[in-house]
Amino acid sequence: MSERISRRVFLARGAAFGAAAGTLLTIGCGGGSEELSCTDVSGLSAGEQAARSGLAYVDNSPHGAQKNCLNCNFYTEAPAGQCGGCTLVKGPIHPQGYCNGWAAKA
Ligand code: SF4
Repeated sequence: MSERISRRVFLARGAAFGAAAGTLLTIGCGGGSEELSCTDVSGLSAGEQAARSGLAYVDNSPHGAQKNCLNCNFYTEAPAGQCGGCTLVKGPIHPQGYCNGWAAKA
């Protein structure tokens, strides 16, 4: 006995599966890191802030995973979910961040 489903039911089930898969991917692939903000520079001197701005630091790399702080030679890692550091740019550094001082991890 074969079970046939209508096109409408098939599409509805596909949409529901897609929504569930998207939610799981968001949770499992760094969805939490999107909420991590490493932009508080209140503890930095004016000179350190200027240097940070001069290198155009941003929390989200325009180069994606190819070039970000996590794979930069100057990045110092922090526990998951926390801002890291950088030996070149002072202040909190996002693992997925980027600046013009980026250099491939040695
Ligand atoms: S030098 Fe720039 S890209 Fe490299 S870790 Fe520091 S802030 Fe990130």
